[in-house]
Amino acid sequence: MGHTGAERWLAQSVLGAGHRLTRPRRLLLSALAGLGDQFTAEELAAAAPGVGRATVFRTLRLMLDLGIVCQVVLDDGALHYRLTSGGHHHHISCSECGAVIDFATCDIDDLLGELSRRTGYAIEAHRLEVYGRCADCGDRSQDARRAVPALA
Ligand SMILES: [Zn+2]
Ligand SMILES: [Zn+2]
Ligand SMILES: [Zn+2]
Repeated sequence: MGHTGAERWLAQSVLGAGHRLTRPRRLLLSALAGLGDQFTAEELAAAAPGVGRATVFRTLRLMLDLGIVCQVVLDDGALHYRLTSGGHHHHISCSECGAVIDFATCDIDDLLGELSRRTGYAIEAHRLEVYGRCADCGDRSQDARRAVPALA
């Protein structure tokens, strides 16, 4: 998706949900489309000078609620946002380079049912983040290990 395509898609998602496309929102969507598929709130704020921080965070909240963006908690605790076409999903993140892949399978209904029975909680949502080394980073560390001269 190109810059303009992403911007149009974002604008349509906001309008389609019955929200007004105010000038700050328009600026934020335009900035967002230029940031690529993963960004922090600070990066978005920096890319849209003139839009107040409160508006940046309110608009991010709106886009989370609309399912246009999702949150990723990286292995170091950093909170990133990603563009998403919606639907329930989770992330597997590389603890080396921060690459993120979505996955939609989470067979945890049994676990949640059991948890609800045990605690009396009515379960409404869950988060699941998986961390590891991506194929590229795994390969690189293998290479590094091979490069270490064997001790005699
Ligand atoms: Zn996501
Ligand atoms: Zn990696
Ligand atoms: Zn899930």
